[in-house]
Amino acid sequence: MQTMKGQLVTVMGLGRHGGGVGAARWLVEQGGTVTVTDLETAERLADSLARLQDLPIRYTLGRHDEADFRGAHRVVVNPAVMLPHPLVTLANESGAAITSEVELFLDRCKANVVGVTGTTGKSTTCTMLAEMLRHSGRRTWLGGNIGHSLLCELRGMHASDVVVLELSSFQLAHLSRTARLPQAAIITNCRPNHLDWHGSWTRYRRAKQRILAGSPGQIAVVNSCDPEVSSWREIAAGEVVPLIEDSWLPELRVPGLHNRQNARLAATMAARLGADPRAIQAALASFAGLPHRLEPVAQIAGRRFLNDSKATSAAAAIAALHAIDGPIWLLAGGVHRGDDWRELARHIACRTRGGAFFGQARHNLSKAVQSEAADFNWVAVEHLAEAAAWAFDRSREGDAILLSPACPSFDQFADFAERGRRFAELAHDLSHNHDPHRQLGPKPMA
Ligand code: ADP
Repeated sequence: MQTMKGQLVTVMGLGRHGGGVGAARWLVEQGGTVTVTDLETAERLADSLARLQDLPIRYTLGRHDEADFRGAHRVVVNPAVMLPHPLVTLANESGAAITSEVELFLDRCKANVVGVTGTTGKSTTCTMLAEMLRHSGRRTWLGGNIGHSLLCELRGMHASDVVVLELSSFQLAHLSRTARLPQAAIITNCRPNHLDWHGSWTRYRRAKQRILAGSPGQIAVVNSCDPEVSSWREIAAGEVVPLIEDSWLPELRVPGLHNRQNARLAATMAARLGADPRAIQAALASFAGLPHRLEPVAQIAGRRFLNDSKATSAAAAIAALHAIDGPIWLLAGGVHRGDDWRELARHIACRTRGGAFFGQARHNLSKAVQSEAADFNWVAVEHLAEAAAWAFDRSREGDAILLSPACPSFDQFADFAERGRRFAELAHDLSHNHDPHRQLGPKPMA
C-alpha cells in the first residue's frame, strides 16, 4: 500500500550518512511527491545523489526555499538540523506533519527494536549485539546512525525479527512526543558532547534519556559502570536487566576495557532476548572490531599505526590511550567545538611519549597539554601528514602511532572515514620514504 500517495513531502537535509537517502527512496516508493533540499551543493552531496538518480525527485540544493516548506504536507527533517528551525516552524504552522527518518521507521516497524545510544561505543555495541543474535540463529537487522537506513527494508521484516538500531542524541532529540520508542534499549555511557548543538548538558542528557521512556514492557540495559548513566536505572519505564559478570566473557580480539564494557552490555541484552550463551561467546570471540576504531592499519619499521579516526570526543581518545600497550605517539585534532581539554590533556601527558596536534583544534590542544606538563613533547601543525611524519621521526621500534583525534574531521575531511583512509595512506608513504639511518631533525616550530 502506498501510504504517501498524493502527498508533497520535503526531505530537509540529504546528508552523507544514509538517512536522507533512505528516507527519500522510501517516500518515493510510498507514492509521495518528493523534494529534497540541502544547504550543501550538489558537488558535495555527489555520493548521496548518485544513490537516488533513478528516482523522480525534485532538488533544491545549496539553499532552502520557503516554498518547499510552506506547501508541504510532510517534512522529514535530518537529525543534524538544529531545532527550533524557522523553516520547520513555518512548515508546522502551515499544517505540515514534521517527522524524521527514524520516527517514520519506528512507527512502522513490526519487528522488535533494540535502540542503542550513548556518547561512545554505539556502533561497536550494536555490531556485537547483531553478531550475537545472528550466531544464535535470529533474523537480525542492523541500521540507524551506524550509516544504514532500514526504512526500505521494512517490508522484509517479520514480527519475530530483531532490529538493532543505533540512535544518536540528535535522532533522539528529533523524535516527536508521540513517536513509538524501541521495545528494548541499551545506554553505553554519557559524557558532555555535542553541547554546541544541544545547547546544554541538561538537554543533551535529556535527549539520551528519552530512549528509556518506552512502554512499561520495555527492557533496558544501562551501563552501571558509567558514573552518569548508572543512576538512569531509576527513570527507566520498564525492566532494567542486571549486567552479566565480566568473567563470563571470553577473551576479546578488540583491545581495551571500554570494549569489554561494550561486550558486556551487548551480551546482557542478547541473553535477555533469548540468544544461546554459546553463540554469544562465539560471536564475541570472533569479533575483530570495526574500521576506524583502534584499527591496526600498518606495521612499519616496527611501529604500529592505529587508526582510531572515529574517536571524535575526548572520552573516546582517553579510552584509546588506555587500550594500547607500550609507548604511544598521539595524533589529535580537527574541528574545535569549544570542548574542555583538561581531562584529555592529563591522560595525554601520562600515557604518551609525545603529541602532534593538527587542524583547527591544534592550538587549544597544545595549550591544554602544556599547562598539564610543561616539558611535554608536542608540536602543532596544520595537517595530518605533518603530524604523522613528526611522530614517525621520533618514534622507535615497538611504539604505537595512534590517530585518535578527539575531534570531528569536517575542518579538513569529508568525514571520519576519509580521515582514517588518509592516515593509512600516510603510513604507507612513510614506509616508502623511510631511511633507517636518518638522523632526527630539529623540532619544528609550533
Ligand atoms: P559511536 O558509534 O558511539 O561513535 P563507536 O563504537 O563507533 O562509537 O566508537 C567510536 C570511538 O569511541 C572509537 O574511537 C572507540 O574506540 C571509542 N569507544 C568505543 N566504545 C567506547 C566506550 N565504551 N567508552 C569509550 N570509548 C569508546
